[in-house]
Amino acid sequence: MNIHEYQAKEIFRKYNVAVPNSKVAFSVDEAVNAAEELGSDVSVVKAQIHAGGRGKAGGVKIAKNLDDVREYADEILGKQLVTHQTGPEGKEVKRLLIEEGCDIQKEYYIGVVLDRATSRVVMMGSEEGGTEIEEVAAETPEKIFKEVIDPVTGLMPYQARRLAFNINIPDELLGKAVKFMMSLYNVFVEKDCSIAEINPLVTTGDGEVLALDAKLNFDDNALFRQKDLLEYRDLDEEDEKEIEASKYDLSYIALDGNIGCMVNGAGLAMSTMDIIKYYGGEPANFLDVGGGATTEKVTEAFKIILSDDHVKGILVNIFGGIMKCDVIAEGVVEATKQVGLEIPLVVRLEGTNVEQGKKILDESGLNITSAESMADGAEKIVSLVK
Ligand code: ADP
Ligand code: MG
Repeated sequence: MNIHEYQAKEIFRKYNVAVPNSKVAFSVDEAVNAAEELGSDVSVVKAQIHAGGRGKAGGVKIAKNLDDVREYADEILGKQLVTHQTGPEGKEVKRLLIEEGCDIQKEYYIGVVLDRATSRVVMMGSEEGGTEIEEVAAETPEKIFKEVIDPVTGLMPYQARRLAFNINIPDELLGKAVKFMMSLYNVFVEKDCSIAEINPLVTTGDGEVLALDAKLNFDDNALFRQKDLLEYRDLDEEDEKEIEASKYDLSYIALDGNIGCMVNGAGLAMSTMDIIKYYGGEPANFLDVGGGATTEKVTEAFKIILSDDHVKGILVNIFGGIMKCDVIAEGVVEATKQVGLEIPLVVRLEGTNVEQGKKILDESGLNITSAESMADGAEKIVSLVK
């Protein structure tokens, strides 16, 4: 689960991770009031969307007075902001963060992630802050420093010092930088984050070390024990189809292609996407209906796939182990009865109750192309869509 920058900064304040003073605003008047209350000479008007790259896209503006704040807030609120992370359709800005302007001396990068290779949390730092860290990693990887953290001891002060030293934080601010990193690590662990990224971390003219930007991502599997975080969920920022899928406990991820996929098992779902691409097609989604899916769940899954306008054909690829082929077939028939089916449907069924499943599909009167194998199914749906 993703949250907004202002929400991440709220969490940071509770954990003593230093951030500038700021207030959230949902309207232009609220923005001006917020700037007035903050009372700083310069305020920054920041679009709150679940995507980075706002600065370059015109979503972060420096205001020198309250008139500027009004002008920028008016300009940004309601705007469809397109950044390199939003996709071409952009994201509508519905909230603003009004923040006191900082006298930035230098911008750094700090990120905390889980490294799957070592099964450890890793804190990364770079003095190339403000820019895309992916670019730094590609062009000057020697400028990224890492500390691998032992889960038993947590981040050790000497590690934080070494990282701060490596990224050239000025000597007199090393203490503050270490405190920042230790507190950030606490947020990461206690809140079950999957990513905590500060880009930029800044040193200021008055000798502070602050998070100017804040991105937190949480592990969905831990949300059951992080109930307070659920209040931060902003459904406006999520894909409608994914919200619908989460109600039925379906693992669904919307993608850009035009071939809808209904598969059981995450591994088979991944390889189905691969084989569609192998035959020159593009999958419209990842979908794992799971092992114990009911007819109702399959029906919902099918409806979600069909609700995507980009979908020009569907490939059902089921290996019935725990999942039974007749249940899938019933779900497909039921869903098409409810929402209609005007696009090609290729079905590959194999495993438990496959004969009953095929019979249900054959007798449904639906225009279904059956496939003998996974490759056959992929090839057929790709050519039908084309
Ligand atoms: P994004 O990463 O989405 O572009 P950031 O929050 O990183 O958004 O802001 C972009 C840039 O705007 C920062 O790198 C920084 O230079 C500037 N900026 C952001 N907040 C402030 C602030 N409070 N004071 C001064 N400059 C800021
Ligand atoms: Mg940033």
